[in-house]
Amino acid sequence: MALERTLSIIKPDAVAKNVVGEIYTRFEKAGLKVVAAKMKHLSKQEAEGFYAVHRERPFFAALVEFMISGPVMIQALQGDNAVLKNRELMGATNPKDAAPGTIRADFADSIDANAVHGSDSLENAAIEIAYFFPATDVYAR
Ligand code: GDP
Ligand code: MG
Repeated sequence: MALERTLSIIKPDAVAKNVVGEIYTRFEKAGLKVVAAKMKHLSKQEAEGFYAVHRERPFFAALVEFMISGPVMIQALQGDNAVLKNRELMGATNPKDAAPGTIRADFADSIDANAVHGSDSLENAAIEIAYFFPATDVYAR
């Protein structure tokens, strides 16, 4: 088992639904520890920079507008196989395809408002954690 860190974002729809605690409980029950966290209302520039890989996709403008529509909860999670484990907890991008019991199946309304972000690889996890947290704000636990 590899000890990993991954970046998670609870998106504006889930923050507005007041399910931050319920989502944190899922991380904790899966053995993922929060090692950095902050609530933030992203600027357009921050959201565009974070999702730069999707710049050319047709949904990019809608994605950025959604991500800046309210505050988000941003956290780095640590645990065995944290990247894949968090993706499993999240469920498929489109909540219609998400397995029962996953965060997106339970809390997401649409492919746009889909409750959570999670890094898709260990390499991107490191980039995404550094995008939001200086190394001194990530705590070994
Ligand atoms: P994720 O890693 O499961 O979040 O999915 P992606 O990295 O492929 O896409 C990033 C985000 O863009 C997703 O979480 C969705 O909110 C949004 N998105 C992805 N694909 C589509 C799409 O086909 N249509 C729309 N409207 N949004 C999409
Ligand atoms: Mg992705």
